[in-house]
Amino acid sequence: MIAGLQFDPISLPPETETLRKEVRAFIAEEQTSGTLSQRNSDDDGYCPEFSRKLGARGWLGMMWPKAYGGQERTAFDRYVVNEELLVSGAPTSAHFVADRQSGPLLLRFGTDQHKQEIVPAIARGELTFCIGMSEPHSGSDLASVQTSARKTDGGWIINGTKLWTSWAHRADYMITLVRTSPLDKDRHNGLSQFVVDMKSPGVEVRPIINLRGQHDFNEIMLTDCFVPDSMMVGGEGQGWSQVTSELGYERSGPERFLSTFALFRELVRVIGPAPTPTEAAAIGRMAVHMMTLRRMSISVAGMLQEGRAPNVEAAVVKDRGTAFEREMPELVRLLMPTEPSRDAEVDAYARALGDAMVLVPQLTIQGGTREILRVVIARGLGLR
Ligand SMILES: Cc1cc2nc3c(=O)[nH]c(=O)nc-3n(C[C@H](O)[C@H](O)[C@H](O)COP(=O)(O)OP(=O)(O)OC[C@H]3O[C@@H](n4cnc5c(N)ncnc54)[C@H](O)[C@@H]3O)c2cc1C
Repeated sequence: MIAGLQFDPISLPPETETLRKEVRAFIAEEQTSGTLSQRNSDDDGYCPEFSRKLGARGWLGMMWPKAYGGQERTAFDRYVVNEELLVSGAPTSAHFVADRQSGPLLLRFGTDQHKQEIVPAIARGELTFCIGMSEPHSGSDLASVQTSARKTDGGWIINGTKLWTSWAHRADYMITLVRTSPLDKDRHNGLSQFVVDMKSPGVEVRPIINLRGQHDFNEIMLTDCFVPDSMMVGGEGQGWSQVTSELGYERSGPERFLSTFALFRELVRVIGPAPTPTEAAAIGRMAVHMMTLRRMSISVAGMLQEGRAPNVEAAVVKDRGTAFEREMPELVRLLMPTEPSRDAEVDAYARALGDAMVLVPQLTIQGGTREILRVVIARGLGLR
């Protein structure tokens, strides 16, 4: 039997509009006299000072229990804050991983110590995290990770290499997936997660420069790195089920279709108030795509709010959202030709096009490639 996808039609509750106004006012203030006014055009979107300001306003860890520094607000409130930050181009890289993934993971599987000491500091925007899942020979096939942890007195000794680890060079901690017991018939057994302090002896972070000429991801060599027992997350051998639950949070947010929004806005600006029918149709088509993706994404937020695990729907949002983002620069270039550029001195439209062209290839790879998402979707629909 073929199961169906379920995207319940959900509208954002009216009270979120008050919050939206607050976020917009804060961003406007920051753009004129705050941290945002000091950003330069080659900024990499990583600004701990701005993240701490969000933390002080209660806009990080918004859904988490108040006992652990959260605000006990809804998934819709969190959605609105993220949406406004993304469309304004605010720097979210310093807190994004911890707010979206590491905090929820620690709240779900971590010890009391993790919840009392680490989680509140994430909510204040004071601690940054990276995700150590991928390795040189383990990306899509994550269960094949070879980094291993061997038991020793009071903790574990980790050896191995992690790859493509975003912001590892600036992170305080990494949540990593490693093998804690030898391979058996089921490769998903014997994997565990640890919180690794990035200042520990035996952690070496090597930069990898991306297509944009920027340093955001890394290779990490772990050599006899000691991690205390207290830093294991969840149960020994439970890493696989924990990691797969984490991917649900990762795949469905507005960041999965708004990464190229700055280009869309520039296109609308250069076309101006009197578009030709062809221009109007193209802009309308792109807007409709974004509106539909937004409704699907909000629907997933609603299911997360109800405590459901809409992994297949989240995979659909990421697949469709990033496919749209990948197409956009080409659609825009054909509609309004210009020489794309990454030079800060050229006009804003050429710059937005240049930025988007070198950004989009990564979007359908990070967080699960298209092919892998389609496997998840096919399985979820009972087709495989
Ligand atoms: C910008 C960026 C940031 C990243 N940040 C992080 C991070 O912070 N932490 C982290 O752990 N990882 C990170 N990654 C790594 C990312 O998760 C992996 O690149 C991704 O999972 C793919 O793995 P891979 O690169 O090893 O490619 P592979 O798994 O080798 O895949 C190569 C190609 O083969 C296809 N393929 C593989 N298996 C199958 C299959 N079974 N069926 C059909 N096709 C298949 C893939 O779809 C892909 O097209 C990041 C990647 C990028 C691009």
